[in-house]
Amino acid sequence: MSGIRSTSWLLEEYRRHTTQLEELRALLHERLAAARAEWESLTEPADDEHAPEAAASGEPVPLSLGRLRRARTAVSEIEAAIDRLDFGVYGTCLRCGAFIALQRLRRYPHTRHCAVCHDAER
Ligand SMILES: [Zn+2]
Repeated sequence: MSGIRSTSWLLEEYRRHTTQLEELRALLHERLAAARAEWESLTEPADDEHAPEAAASGEPVPLSLGRLRRARTAVSEIEAAIDRLDFGVYGTCLRCGAFIALQRLRRYPHTRHCAVCHDAER
């Protein structure tokens, strides 16, 4: 059965990628810090230091729901990617099980899908 061969191939591929995983983990933590900073900048109340005009006028700062949603999604997607790293399933497509190209992971370290499945979902 091709399943057995495929599993060993996957394991081999996985070993080849393990040296890259720590690099990607560092990248994920970097992105997570940035995403959390973005989230906090959107959710913290206006004060003299961050929004002097709004604080002076007493007007609430208009909140962009789109930005807020994107920031929240970014944080949770990156956290989920770090969880997958911890569980040892990072770097495989959650849809088809194929390994995600390293080039793609470097660009989108939080991605859950390979490029093929990503395109298929759009
Ligand atoms: Zn896939």
